[in-house]
Amino acid sequence: MTSEARSFIPFARPDITEAEVDAVARALRSGWVTTGPETKAFEQEFAAYLGGGLHAVAVNSATAGLHLALEAIGIGPGDEVIAPTLTFTATVEVARYLGADARLVDVDPVTLNIDPGAIEGAITSRSKAILPMHYGGLSCDMGAIFAIARRHGLQVVEDAAHALPATHQGALVGQLPSAAAVFSFYANKTMTAGEGGMVVTRDEALAARMKVMRLHGISRDAFDRFSSRTPAWYYEIVAPGFKYNLTDIAAALGRVQLQRLPAFVQRRRQMAARYLRELKGLPLILPADAPVGDTHAWHLFVLRLSDAARVTRDDVIQRLSDAGIGTSVHYVPLHRQPYWRDRYGLTPEQFPHAERAYQRMFSIPLFTAMSDEEQGRVITALRAILG
Ligand SMILES: *Cc1c(COP(=O)(O)O)cnc(C)c1O
Repeated sequence: MTSEARSFIPFARPDITEAEVDAVARALRSGWVTTGPETKAFEQEFAAYLGGGLHAVAVNSATAGLHLALEAIGIGPGDEVIAPTLTFTATVEVARYLGADARLVDVDPVTLNIDPGAIEGAITSRSKAILPMHYGGLSCDMGAIFAIARRHGLQVVEDAAHALPATHQGALVGQLPSAAAVFSFYANKTMTAGEGGMVVTRDEALAARMKVMRLHGISRDAFDRFSSRTPAWYYEIVAPGFKYNLTDIAAALGRVQLQRLPAFVQRRRQMAARYLRELKGLPLILPADAPVGDTHAWHLFVLRLSDAARVTRDDVIQRLSDAGIGTSVHYVPLHRQPYWRDRYGLTPEQFPHAERAYQRMFSIPLFTAMSDEEQGRVITALRAILG
């Protein structure tokens, strides 16, 4: 390995210690590697972390969780769901799995979260659900979103992939009165299980449906009701379900990460505060901090070049790369992606705020396994490029 390769600061790197390695080794040695006691414990501990009173359904990705949640609330052919254009395709591809359509709308220019006013403008007689995504870890304006949902009889399913843990008006995302919220444990999220996701809901019937659909449409009721008489080999298929269960190997990893989450949150806040402090005065639009009463999960640290910048976004990304620093862009808006653009005939003019943000945005490294010295290098490089 060359010294440059050794000192490269990636955009993200998971924070894995010997505790995670030991937990995974224990799961492997237990003789039970698929869904079992580790997964059940992970679900209970995750629900408890969010404050209890919730059903948690572990799945092998957040994408699977979003699919299960939309299926469980009854989304089907001909229905429409409303979602922001500035998100990952997973938020809305799941609607297409079910034969429903996505109405993509613009974002708020300050928070980059879905704009409640734009939601109102997109409602049709086919609208069934709103899918807010808490961009970067900052909660959407959920008060306004729930008010619109109530007024128009729509369900709300939160894409909470960035929002572990974010709070809105004192309540953790996951505890808000939506039908369901879906978290991701993908490698670069605020905690990881390698791959994995968790759906949380207060609605017992919804949780029961998602548990059945998570594993081939196998109903557990037959086991529970007749457990003394039903032979172990007997099961009933009540629907054409999916194969979305989480393994105990992944759950064992996720349980250790969940224990470390409070320390991860502290570290992310400290790092975000340092970026906000030390990048002041450069021709940048810094990410919006959470309003009083909310807390930011700081999954991402997204910068935008201001009008005063004398370089382009692509130049900044190239020069950071030359300095050994990885970046990313969140996201190429869905209205620019060929599938979504062509299916709905979308143009950039329909999404002025997302479009303007996209042209100027780049995400810099923010991960707990990054040292103070590495963060200092990112700050120094940005000052050299933009100062
Ligand atoms: C990561 C992510 C997902 C998908 O999560 P997976 O666990 O990889 O399926 C969905 N939506 C958003 C906004 C994400 O960032």
